[in-house]
Amino acid sequence: MNINGRTRPIAILGNPLGHSLSPLMHNYLFQAAGLNNVYVPLEVKEKDLESAVIGLWSLGFIGANVTIPYKEWIMEYLVDISEEAKLIGAVNTLIRSDEGFRGDNTDGKGFLNSLLLEKDWQPQAKRAVILGAGGSARAVCTALALKGTKEIVLVNRSLPKAEDIISNIAARIGVKARAMLWEDQGLQAAVSNADIIINTTPLGMEPKINVAPPLNTEWLDRGQLVVDLIYNPLKTKLLEEASQRGCEVLNGLGMLIHQGVLSFKLWTGIEPPLEGLRDLLEKSLKTNY
Ligand code: NAP
Repeated sequence: MNINGRTRPIAILGNPLGHSLSPLMHNYLFQAAGLNNVYVPLEVKEKDLESAVIGLWSLGFIGANVTIPYKEWIMEYLVDISEEAKLIGAVNTLIRSDEGFRGDNTDGKGFLNSLLLEKDWQPQAKRAVILGAGGSARAVCTALALKGTKEIVLVNRSLPKAEDIISNIAARIGVKARAMLWEDQGLQAAVSNADIIINTTPLGMEPKINVAPPLNTEWLDRGQLVVDLIYNPLKTKLLEEASQRGCEVLNGLGMLIHQGVLSFKLWTGIEPPLEGLRDLLEKSLKTNY
């Protein structure tokens, strides 16, 4: 990497950032695209978030990613926020403007792009079951609802968070949606009728790889697509069992890549060449985690 007087920086703000793959991914893509940018991880304390945003702008950063725990809190320090980010209630990308940073959220669209590009799967008129009701469930639910999904069921261990997503997102977009507890009698029918089942909980993530969401995988069948947003391990217990049932399966590495590609395009206006990226990230997951 050649850093010189014309190098323009981009950051990721979050805490902790030790396991983030984004610096590796974006620095690889800047080099592959022949751009004079550098991407740096900046761990920020909660009390310093506002001054960090002001500082990034003063220092000429052309953009940033934002990750846990700041995707919601950062919104009050931005000059404008995209409609999709407002619906999701979170921002993962900052884009420099003359007045300050604008905010966008590429998580939902990145998720849809991974389904389209890796599985040729489109949400129109499909039925979806989303496991979990946290930040990534909000992004996935919004993206599915905006693209014409016919019905969405959100399953969570507490109903208020799932109901909040439904009232704030699904109802505003106008999609048919309902919330359920894991022990709901209607869950079997919802899962059996679904075209896609998406795990947005951390259950099954390294190091607890023998754990899975409390879902009876005997309800799954061929013809269904089962997606896990987890990418470490690449094949979770849920995906392993879904494969055995004859389902198509997809891990979260594609979502990570495609949300990153969309952020990259917002900063640079360029579609980055992706050759070699997936191998690089998979190798890094094997050696560094
Ligand atoms: P989050 O906001 O903390 O939400 C986690 C959800 O999982 C919550 O609904 C929570 O339920 C549920 N949950 C957690 N532990 C549980 C348990 N023991 N039993 C049942 N439910 C449980 O997290 P997030 O930001 O959405 O991230 C979730 C996962 O997605 C993580 O593994 C993350 O790495 C992954 N992710 C991947 C990508 C990607 O690019 N591939 C992007 C974002 C996130 P309650 O509401 O009841 O607490």
